Amino acid sequence: MILDYQTAYEKVKSGERISVKDAEWLWNCASDDQLQSLAQLVRDRYHKPKTATYLLMRIVNYTNVCVAKCDYCSFYRLPNAPDGYVREKSWIFEKIDELVSVGGVLFGFNGGFNPKLKLDYYTDLFSSIRARYGDTIEFYALTIVELLYVAKLSKMSVPDTIKVLKEAGVRWITGGGAEILADSFRKRHSPLKYTVDEYFDTQRHVIEGGLNTTATMVIGFDETMEERLSHLERLRQFQDEVNGGIFSFLCWTYKPYNNELGGTEIGANEYLRHLALCRIFLDNIVHVRASVLTQNQNALKGLVYGANDFDIPWEDEVTQMAGAVIEQDVEKVLSYARQEGFEPSYRHVALSPQNGGLQLA
Ligand code: SF4
Repeated sequence: MILDYQTAYEKVKSGERISVKDAEWLWNCASDDQLQSLAQLVRDRYHKPKTATYLLMRIVNYTNVCVAKCDYCSFYRLPNAPDGYVREKSWIFEKIDELVSVGGVLFGFNGGFNPKLKLDYYTDLFSSIRARYGDTIEFYALTIVELLYVAKLSKMSVPDTIKVLKEAGVRWITGGGAEILADSFRKRHSPLKYTVDEYFDTQRHVIEGGLNTTATMVIGFDETMEERLSHLERLRQFQDEVNGGIFSFLCWTYKPYNNELGGTEIGANEYLRHLALCRIFLDNIVHVRASVLTQNQNALKGLVYGANDFDIPWEDEVTQMAGAVIEQDVEKVLSYARQEGFEPSYRHVALSPQNGGLQLA
């Protein structure tokens, strides 16, 4: 067990995995510089030092109707609410065209648990997008929890639902809806949003079904350190079980405005220290991304704390309604990365169906 920084350094340098107790020690006792150094050791196993990659992406919020009622959510409207919506395909195409016109090719669909939208809504939408844009764009179709909801609503098994989505042109699902993967947290704030076991079972089906997927985490609610570490431990264990099937890990921060839970935002330093801890702990996930969407300029400091990749977001109603302010000046965001000593490069996008969509160069 780690009792001092030298032991921690030697352990991480030799490639040995840190335990939950070690992570606790690092969180409580390591300085910012020390966390940065350890995170860079793990980062260097996978990535060229002083470089980073980025992608321009837009979240497309196709519906805000949701029956999950998470208390930290500022975005959802219950069915029949006057300002609830389901977007028309033409509206979605306009959103796609707009980002394509400024050089973006990646879209993330994010909505809610809308009881009116069964699987045929999604297959129609995604196959229409493939028919219109072919392989010139890529998209994250659903989050893990949306996928699980749609499967249940449509009275289909998750593997069968995945098969149908694949036939409609889907290649990517994201690990969204994870927030904190500890059942104690989920019971307090989002009891209708599935258990940790259900989340990972669905991730497993996604990987076994031949789709790409990611992992996510959100911090800054009222979660305990134990709950944060439980999330990381379950995720690392799962990544071992699926032989590295999770493509990347992204952590962002809770925005406490316009929702039932409220609270105050955590500070930038806490986010950065947590990011470093994630990089050190999740030694089996290649890509750790920083969240420009919720941390703006501070996210680029995340490259010093072990991140190797970031998205430049164009729009996301979910976080914007909760208080996020999006920086659309791409050059400005890139200059922040350079200020931290990292040369950013646009992620090469290989879009042929043979390689399953987006790949890092
Ligand atoms: S966070 Fe997602 S699942 Fe929860 S209420 Fe909001 S839209 Fe629904």
